Amino acid sequence: MLITESLNTIRSTWLSRVSHRLARGQGLRDSFGSQLGLFFDLVVQAVDTGDPAWLDPLLNEWAVARTFTELEVRESSLAPILHQMLIYTFEVARETLSEAEALDLMDALLPVYTHAFGVVAQRETERRIEHIQSELDKVRDSLEHLDKSKSDFIAIAAHELKTPLTLIEGYASMLEEWAVKTNGSDQFGLLLEGIHSGSRRLREIIDDMIDVSMIDNHLLALNFQPVWLSHIFEAIQRDAADGLQSRNQTLTVHPFPGLHEMTYADLERLYQVLRNLVSNAIKYTPDGGQIDVDGRILPGFIEIVVSDSGIGIDPENHERIFAKFGGLGNAAYHSSGKIKFKGGGPGLGLPIAKGIIENHGGTIWVESEGYDEERMPGTKFHVMLPLRKEPPDDKSAKLFRPASDELAPEVSQ
Ligand code: ADP
Repeated sequence: MLITESLNTIRSTWLSRVSHRLARGQGLRDSFGSQLGLFFDLVVQAVDTGDPAWLDPLLNEWAVARTFTELEVRESSLAPILHQMLIYTFEVARETLSEAEALDLMDALLPVYTHAFGVVAQRETERRIEHIQSELDKVRDSLEHLDKSKSDFIAIAAHELKTPLTLIEGYASMLEEWAVKTNGSDQFGLLLEGIHSGSRRLREIIDDMIDVSMIDNHLLALNFQPVWLSHIFEAIQRDAADGLQSRNQTLTVHPFPGLHEMTYADLERLYQVLRNLVSNAIKYTPDGGQIDVDGRILPGFIEIVVSDSGIGIDPENHERIFAKFGGLGNAAYHSSGKIKFKGGGPGLGLPIAKGIIENHGGTIWVESEGYDEERMPGTKFHVMLPLRKEPPDDKSAKLFRPASDELAPEVSQ
């Protein structure tokens, strides 16, 4: 008997057995039955033509029709069904055909089913990847939304806090004037200083919040002008002198190549970054520690390295500290001061530093063996600042154009 004839012989028994065993309930059985009929006809076609690809469209359709729950569970749902269908084919063939015919039929069907298993596995994997991708897209959208609301919240909160703070500062100054006029007691002056330093700190935090939201929203505008790092470090040495003295620490600025080089940069913003690195070095180094500033010139860049002999940072946190609110310290230390040992702040200094340096076209990273309060392995912050002999934007170019350029046309006349 021809294979196609054998297939026709087993058709009706196979259809009723598979649909009874695999589909529960009459309704389901009817629709499954018509799909099975189609499948069987395509198997006949595949055997007849020797091309198992006849089954592909139907198998694709089955794989695409998988439900959300099926996609959630990791296992394949179609392969076990195909497996059962193959077993019932063996069963029915053995019961209805001669041994030789049954063997011939199985011989012809095996390549068709092998192909079907491959197609199903591939389509199901593709479907699962599509599903995971769409879930990932959803998560990414909601994370972006969350980040945007966080950044909006920071900007709004910062601006809202500024108004009452200005009032407190104003009244504190008026009180101070009044105290001077009326020869108020020393105690009064001490209390006023308390208000002043509290509001100064609050203003710094609010300014940091505004900076962070400007960086997040790509609104940070840099004012490029000729800058010498030596001037910046002189100012930092002056401003940090009290803190260094109270902690009995030494800050050494080595005369590195690049220190006296002129480069176009935003003076205030660069000061803010380097001052923050030095403040952190003071904060995270015990009393009596050493802080060094060194560097070198590389093609197109000045590298600045601020190192300390402090507690260090674990490599697993080297990226995290540059993320918003990425402070690693104990919450109990928060805002306990700008120079106090381990006196953590809101964790905005380094993300701002990163934003400012990246807006200059540079990079910032940290190097440290790890965190150890016994051994004090120390930390090194590296800043790669582009070395610019020309202002990068038109506005600064106009502002800093040498006087001779302005005169050039008249001279040539
Ligand atoms: P803050 O100091 O306000 O917490 P920063 O963004 O300046 O925020 O620093 C983030 C975190 O990085 C700090 O909380 C601290 O854990 C760690 N860190 C920064 N600088 C140093 C340093 N020089 N040595 C050790 N840890 C540091």
